[in-house]
Amino acid sequence: MKLFPIPTGNFKLDGGAMFGVVPKTIWQKNHPADENNLINLSMRSLLIVTGDHRVLIDTGIGEKQSEKFLSHYYLNGDDTLASSLAKVGYSFDDITDVIHTHLHFDHCGGSTKRNSDGSYSTTFKNATYYVSEKQWNWAMNPNRKEAASFLKENLIPLQESGQLKLLTEEGDLFPGVSVRFFNGHTDGQIVIYVNYSGNTLVFAADLVPLSGMLHVPYIPSYDTRPLITLEEKEQFLNEVVDQQQTIFMEHEVETECLTVKRGAKGFEVDLRFTLDEFLSFVPTGE
Ligand SMILES: [Zn+2]
Repeated sequence: MKLFPIPTGNFKLDGGAMFGVVPKTIWQKNHPADENNLINLSMRSLLIVTGDHRVLIDTGIGEKQSEKFLSHYYLNGDDTLASSLAKVGYSFDDITDVIHTHLHFDHCGGSTKRNSDGSYSTTFKNATYYVSEKQWNWAMNPNRKEAASFLKENLIPLQESGQLKLLTEEGDLFPGVSVRFFNGHTDGQIVIYVNYSGNTLVFAADLVPLSGMLHVPYIPSYDTRPLITLEEKEQFLNEVVDQQQTIFMEHEVETECLTVKRGAKGFEVDLRFTLDEFLSFVPTGE
């Protein structure tokens, strides 16, 4: 198995919206805001090469949105999905599988592209695209709170391509790769567990979007069911600590990976490190 971080660029969201009921005096210590109260977030995908599969988890915001749409999100950074894949020796056509943790635009926008004639098609023509069935139905009939995050141009091309596979069960998907479903942030969010030579790397997506949210009640106001998030996150983090799992951070610019420990006030960061360092902790596999 081989693992590569695939940074696709950064965007900004309102810090207060990210941290929900937490006062700025607390969250700004770890996540300083700019003059507009925005905090910078990465869109870091993960490439897993396992057996015959080249699996990409999430695809960032993509390149097909209008200037007006993007102006709300202050894209920054030099990395793109294409350049980051090329850097580690892969092209779009090499990708065999794409797992979408969920279908908010900052997680799946890169999966589809706009063609010169204005039509849309899939970016990865040889890939099967995975979404939980629950999330797919949720996104296709969105509630008004989440509707601005589910863009039709991110969804319809997947459906029309015939490349979409809806997951109804948790468990193994590829050698060393398994999935579980969580419902607090949005219905049917997928969290991915990667077994790398006996050590577990967890792609937690928006269940734990930032290290400042390890404190269980710190829940984004974007979440549709915060009390469910509370329960899910507590159980999830207990497992992370007890089973010494490593969390891969999709949205934290400065941190690729972290481990968690129990402190005086609850869960806190134990160690921060790069994915390369995670890979070197254990003897390389096959
Ligand atoms: Zn989300």
